[in-house]
Amino acid sequence: MSDPVPTPGLLECCSAAVGTVRGAVRPRPADERLLRSLTDAGLPTARRIVTVTPLAQVSRSVPTMAVVEGRFAPRRIANSLSSFVIRHPEATFVVDPGYCVDADRRAIAQLPRILRMAVRPPSDTIPTITALRAESSLPALDFALPTHAHWDHVCGLLDLPGLPLHLHSVEHRWIATGAVAPVGGVRDALTDRRLVEYDLDGPPVLTFGRSHDLFGDGSVVLVDLAGHTPGSIGILAHTGSGWVLLAGDAAWHSLQIDELRQKSSFPGNFADDDRALTFETLHRLHLARHTVTIVPTHDYDATRRLAARV
Ligand SMILES: [Zn+2]
Repeated sequence: MSDPVPTPGLLECCSAAVGTVRGAVRPRPADERLLRSLTDAGLPTARRIVTVTPLAQVSRSVPTMAVVEGRFAPRRIANSLSSFVIRHPEATFVVDPGYCVDADRRAIAQLPRILRMAVRPPSDTIPTITALRAESSLPALDFALPTHAHWDHVCGLLDLPGLPLHLHSVEHRWIATGAVAPVGGVRDALTDRRLVEYDLDGPPVLTFGRSHDLFGDGSVVLVDLAGHTPGSIGILAHTGSGWVLLAGDAAWHSLQIDELRQKSSFPGNFADDDRALTFETLHRLHLARHTVTIVPTHDYDATRRLAARV
């Protein structure tokens, strides 16, 4: 039996509905003062190169206005549950193993009813384990590293028993504390699994306030993207064709980063743990976007562009 999760009340549902209409007419404006106050600490000095391989995944077309607040063109954009494999000379790991076999029953069933319809992926969505098996040239995985602890970034672990998990200590405390889970579809993936916790104990990188150098050689540096969840991180990878930042759900689509538009209130209000902090983090991504290639996990086109260049 899985742990219970909170169900959004009438007030929260009404507030999301009102926010969606208000945001469509008058999107949340950029915080110019915040933009001016953010400084760029520069890129890490990387001594090694890694590869970032997006795994095969299908896409679904969703209305742009349901993702990017106040944006109606193009009318629809492509959304997907992407996963990535990063190969470093010392280890190979999967980022955001986001879809398990029988996800409806094993993960999505734990979400509040109002969210199930909004998030249910297409029936031909490829489980992470299936996509991994199709990549026969990849070395065996050493561990998994999700950008955050939401069901569609970890539930693929249910098909990867015994694979160690690297998790930000802040995120682990958030998801594991209390009899009621803050969100559904996550705790089962963490059960009976070796966990390696890390802290963002390193210096500012680019516009991000804290970091963690995963291998100590500057090639894979985790940066603070808190807001969507308390311990959300981005994965900054030094590839042969430049720096890539896997940004999880700090934004759902690159348009949000380019134009500084928050997620639409429905379903954004239910997805972002702290809307104000998520918007602040979006400003940081906006300023970093010309220095690194930013790939939000659910931005199908950004993922395909990344696949084409590696
Ligand atoms: Zn998420």
